Amino acid sequence: MLVPVRCFTCGNLIADKFEDYQTKVKSGEEPSQALDSLGINRYCCRRMLLTSVETIHQIIPFYEAIQRRHNEIQSELE
Ligand SMILES: [Zn+2]
Repeated sequence: MLVPVRCFTCGNLIADKFEDYQTKVKSGEEPSQALDSLGINRYCCRRMLLTSVETIHQIIPFYEAIQRRHNEIQSELE
């Protein structure tokens, strides 16, 4: 799922910090320190980034399979 644009609880803009947060965490920084350095102090906003899971790369193969099957059916009908 894509990260929500705003915090569900307080409405603070968080989506613009998600990419920075991810690069910091992937480079080995502690998530709590990454959030502190990005200025995300409220725990309602912190949970938005901490609990976001990007599922797009798991979902894409299913759409590719659907498209392949659709093409097979179309070629059988022709
Ligand atoms: Zn918040």
